[in-house]
Amino acid sequence: MANTFSRRETLFGIGAAAVAPYAFFRRDDAKPVGWAVLGLGSYATNQIMPSFKDCEHTKLVALISGHPDKLVRYGDQYGIAAASRYTYDTMDAIRDNPEIDVVYVITPPATHPDFSVRAANLGKHVFSEKPMAPTVSDCQRMIDVCRKNHRSLGVGYRCHFENHNLRAIQACRSGELGKITSITSDHGFNIGHGQWRTEKALAGGGSMMDIGIYSLNALRYLSGGEPKEVVATITNPPDDDRFKDVEDTVDFSLVFPSGLVGHGTSGYSWQQGKNQYKVVGEKGTLVANPATYYEGHHFAIDGKELAVTANNQFATMMDAFSKCIREGGKFQAPGEEGRTDIRIIQAIYSSAASGKPVRLA
Ligand code: NAD
Repeated sequence: MANTFSRRETLFGIGAAAVAPYAFFRRDDAKPVGWAVLGLGSYATNQIMPSFKDCEHTKLVALISGHPDKLVRYGDQYGIAAASRYTYDTMDAIRDNPEIDVVYVITPPATHPDFSVRAANLGKHVFSEKPMAPTVSDCQRMIDVCRKNHRSLGVGYRCHFENHNLRAIQACRSGELGKITSITSDHGFNIGHGQWRTEKALAGGGSMMDIGIYSLNALRYLSGGEPKEVVATITNPPDDDRFKDVEDTVDFSLVFPSGLVGHGTSGYSWQQGKNQYKVVGEKGTLVANPATYYEGHHFAIDGKELAVTANNQFATMMDAFSKCIREGGKFQAPGEEGRTDIRIIQAIYSSAASGKPVRLA
């Protein structure tokens, strides 16, 4: 699978899927694509690993962890053979395990590039969690190594595979809402103390990298465009040890070539979490709240709840990547998609630091 397709093609992929919610034809004769999960933290063990049972083309075949005790616990729970449990020290042996096609990297963002490079050089396709990496050059390194090894690279943008979000994209693109005049998106929560998420060396940044990326990515997939300019401000509460190293609240505007201005926020100190977006069109207003949670989505147009069949977005996402590997074709959230968000986040940081708009190439 090439990693060279354009943003426009990516969006049409999402738009087309919105018309027909994800459903793949089961090919009982086909062997599932084998995935190794690297990093057995909260997201891996609570969301991703339980979702393999809902996959049609994807099978959990190996675990990689820095904690041998977790390898035993989760290896036993998921029936992973002892020979397919690896530590970071022994993971080079995955090269000789033909069952493993994909390594899914689910560790803190600053560790994604090195683990991804390592996996690709060991001959495996790479799936990285978001945010893809702290810098654009890190993202490029991941893209380049996968290209060099003729491996595919995907990023865990689960909302691109979630049926309510796909329905919202359809509403935005089909004319159902009329001409879109404004989009706003807010994502934030109240983070605890002493987490890697508040250490820049591991997280790459603060709320914007971790949760604001959902506001940013939604503004992009709902508008169907790429911003040409960014204006942002950052505010950090004084004397809060969580924000010595990374940012708390980000307020940003994206100016799109059409003239549309998308407005996003992100926060790590919000007592009341937010997970929402609103699209105002000349013919209707779409409100999504919660918009990008794991489940329990509520999407309405002009107050009328949209009838959408809920799907397992994690399983759908992994199956889509497996299908691309097996059959070829374009994955909807490739490395280039992750790199685009990181480029815009860096521009948001620059604008906040300078107090000026930043133009994007
Ligand atoms: P976590 O802290 O629960 O787990 C992180 C795991 O990485 C741990 O098992 C830890 O042992 C391991 N690890 C490997 N190298 C490490 C290092 N150098 N320092 C610290 N830990 C290291 O975090 P999480 O919430 O599971 O997040 C992991 C990744 O998943 C992050 O990239 C995060 O942004 C992403 N994530 C995505 C979603 C989503 O909805 N797509 C949700 C949560 C987290």
